Amino acid sequence: MFEESEDTPRVLVTGGAGYIGSHVLHALSDAGIPAVTIDNLSTGRRAAVPDSVPLIEGDIGSADLLERVMRGHRVDAVMHFAGSIVVPESVEKPFAYYRNNTVNSLTLAEACVRMGIDKIVFSSTAAVYGAPESVPITEDAPTIPINPYGASKLMTEQMLRDAGAAHGLRSVILRYFNVAGADPAGRTGQATPVATHLIKVACQALLGRRPALSVFGTDYPTPDGTCIRDYIHVSDLADAHVLALLHLRRGGGSLVLNCGYGRGASVHEVVRTLEAVSGEPVPAALAERRPGDPPQLVAAAARIREQLGWIPKHDRLEEIVRSALAWERGLEG
Ligand code: UDP
Repeated sequence: MFEESEDTPRVLVTGGAGYIGSHVLHALSDAGIPAVTIDNLSTGRRAAVPDSVPLIEGDIGSADLLERVMRGHRVDAVMHFAGSIVVPESVEKPFAYYRNNTVNSLTLAEACVRMGIDKIVFSSTAAVYGAPESVPITEDAPTIPINPYGASKLMTEQMLRDAGAAHGLRSVILRYFNVAGADPAGRTGQATPVATHLIKVACQALLGRRPALSVFGTDYPTPDGTCIRDYIHVSDLADAHVLALLHLRRGGGSLVLNCGYGRGASVHEVVRTLEAVSGEPVPAALAERRPGDPPQLVAAAARIREQLGWIPKHDRLEEIVRSALAWERGLEG
């Protein structure tokens, strides 16, 4: 199917069947921007991909496949989501992370250059900052990742910068803070059953799908002793990607942008908010600190607004947890 030639250029979205990739595919489709996606369905779901978007089941580690899709669909830009994202797993299996995240990104960037594609939007992470000394964290803060996941993403950032200088591949590197919530229309959400992220885990505990939420650490140097994070609604993040693509299509230069609201919430605050919106208690147990968790991660959030004109529409913790819970309720228990 991907041999067919079409007139309109498409954006190639890697990992479009996954949590964030599928929200972006819906945002692109809402904006009338044609896309094609490659996903190996290792963690993604076919049903998450909008009907209008061709889904090529396969691996982005294959340069042949990439080139066939790029040629067959007149791809003019890439959005790169496919990758592994579980921090503790990256500590246990670093090679898998460097292969999946760094090596595959190298294959993808090389394919772009070979095929004359000069625009890429890359999913990076606040994990590139490691355990920063102060918040909010600006994009110019030192990047000292403390786990292979963050390092694998930072290496890709560096590769893209070098490819920009040598080959004119322009990139928008988006450093995600804590992405949560689900499409307000309920078209997609976080579907992976082995969740580790706070809001998803708390929703599962509230729905009785796991015994309790473990609150990892209550003795941090924060006002209530629990860790503080900058939670961003996945639909606002998806909008940021569309704006990043339009920026590059307008001829804009490379950017590195934090994706967060510049506001933190503690673990206790998240739990209380979920209880308030649901009217039900979240079974929770206080637990030891989880190794590698920095006390606070909050984005300096001005640059993305200035550079892309991004205006968040869902920047309330209530809305984030309400949409996450609605999605979770709709999943098979
Ligand atoms: N957290 C928790 N219990 C859980 C999962 C997470 O207390 O079951 C805490 C975690 O220690 C951190 C915050 O919630 O302080 C956000 O963790 P998450 O894994 O969602 O994202 P991270 O910030 O690690 O990327």
